[in-house]
Amino acid sequence: MSRKNLPFVFALACLLTPALLHSQDLYMFRNIRKAYDKGTRAYDGRPGPGYWQNHATYSIDVEIDLPTREVRGSAAIRYFNDSPDTLKMVRLKLAHDLWRKNSQRAYELAARDINEGVNVRAVRVRNAAVDKFNQANTFLDIPLEQALPPGQSIDLEIDWTHTAPAAPGTPRECVCDSTTWFAAYWYPQVAVYDDLHGWADMPYNGMQEMYNDFSDYDVRITVPGNVMVWATGIWQNPEAMLTPEYLNRYKKALAAKDVVKIFAPEDYARRAAFFKNQEKHTFVYKAEGVPDFAFGFSDHYLWDARSALVNPATGRTALASAAYNPDSKDYYEVCQVAAKGLETMSTFLPGYPYPYPRMTVFNGDDGMEFPMMCNDVSIYPRSPVTLTVHEMSHTYFPFMMGINEQYYAWMDEGWAAFFDVMVSDTVAGESLGRLRNYWDHAGTDMDMPPVTPSRQLTTGYRVASYNRPQAAYLNLYQMLGYERFHRCMVEYMNRWKGKHPQPHDFFYTWNDASGENLNWFWKPWFFEWGFPDLAVGRVDTDGIVIENRGTMPMTVSGIIEFSDGTTERFLRTAEVWKSGNLSITIPFATGKTVIKVALDDPHVSDTIRENNVWER
Ligand SMILES: [Zn+2]
Repeated sequence: MSRKNLPFVFALACLLTPALLHSQDLYMFRNIRKAYDKGTRAYDGRPGPGYWQNHATYSIDVEIDLPTREVRGSAAIRYFNDSPDTLKMVRLKLAHDLWRKNSQRAYELAARDINEGVNVRAVRVRNAAVDKFNQANTFLDIPLEQALPPGQSIDLEIDWTHTAPAAPGTPRECVCDSTTWFAAYWYPQVAVYDDLHGWADMPYNGMQEMYNDFSDYDVRITVPGNVMVWATGIWQNPEAMLTPEYLNRYKKALAAKDVVKIFAPEDYARRAAFFKNQEKHTFVYKAEGVPDFAFGFSDHYLWDARSALVNPATGRTALASAAYNPDSKDYYEVCQVAAKGLETMSTFLPGYPYPYPRMTVFNGDDGMEFPMMCNDVSIYPRSPVTLTVHEMSHTYFPFMMGINEQYYAWMDEGWAAFFDVMVSDTVAGESLGRLRNYWDHAGTDMDMPPVTPSRQLTTGYRVASYNRPQAAYLNLYQMLGYERFHRCMVEYMNRWKGKHPQPHDFFYTWNDASGENLNWFWKPWFFEWGFPDLAVGRVDTDGIVIENRGTMPMTVSGIIEFSDGTTERFLRTAEVWKSGNLSITIPFATGKTVIKVALDDPHVSDTIRENNVWER
């Protein structure tokens, strides 16, 4: 640019402030910027005045046929178009078409489980049968003869069947044994139509996870008479189903501060009757304002439950349950871990009351989160604390906060990985050491800036979604301190709870709530290539020179050893790199002779360790 253009550029900049100044600070994709310019999102991080999102109500009947593993369902969906657009079609997700032959998959599935996918038996729109629909790429697109205008709703009904996979280790769901399942991604669900991308168009290939609107569910699940079902939401008919002794135990658990063994080994030993009906029976579960619905069932699982105090200010509690195979030795402590985890998440980090009335950790064969449900494998002889906390903490991200994991997986996995350390260690009362070793990958060609849309990532997915953001948040936490960090978190949650934040909504909100433009921190950690590397540069007579030879601002922590046998610790947060300086000097007691300096903070993700120690 030549000098004579400068006045023009200056005039243009003045015209376009403040929006342009904000928006130029952190790179934003051109298509995403349109939402900010239209006012559905705002440059201060709040939902814009024109923010909108769609939602639905689901009324579903589903029956499980155990011998054939067939799922027979009928869903009545009322879909509300709260967008300003007239919709000419409705797109449903048929995640179970992952098993359909010729579907694209991120990894191999057992050949015996590949089948015809979801058998759509009937589709009705506005109470009239339709036969024009397009089932492809794990979607069911239903063109609307009469379009759906803004502000109106449409009734859809789908009858379907599909066969659950038999092989162990299938993603998200499991037929754990012949009478124990965890059912996930199991019903036709309306895809998200949003202000950023219109209809979500990423086929489900088994890798990228949730992106769903917030909807109400009323689900009736029919299973054989001796089978218990645990599900998202509140069980509506325990009185009609449980025999008096077990109904009493269930009710006791709702208020109990200690674990109640609702279905105990002794009960199975004496063949106790849990249920009034020994034939087929139907569980009714309801949930409001949740982004998904999952359930698990078994005829031989133990059930522990107790209440957790999730909002000390109001006294609100949630029921924490563990449903597990008696052979899973780690699971005998899971209910207690879950209850403590809910209380710790509610009051410490993220420090926001657990938003749901239930949480059941179900002994499946994955580590996978659903609203109010986890499908967690037994990891005995390891401690179940981190796995339990990790999957439960997803309640906040992506569920309560409505994260689009197909684009922004780091916006939920990064937080869950941060809670792996902060919340798990608090629940366990010791350091479990769940750092994700970002330094092993940092700066390699596996290390992509986290703002790279997740759907564009393959082998770099985990580093971008878990490892690097975990390191960033740990450094951020040390820098802001608990009070300020928590204030930003609460503000972010208050603004975006039940909505769909995208990355800038997060960055701008934290800038706003922290009272400081943190872009100097966000840019290197989330937007740019690079890696963290601190080094002990040299020892001067008046201080230790610590050099930042990498690109990321990070905590400086370590120890100085003197010739007289004494030591001195030092700690500076990432704030010291704010001005872009390449080194800092850490003073030490005058008159002493330094013999050794070592950088040593366990949370620091220093990539090159050889330059962390200086010895005379
Ligand atoms: Zn996770």
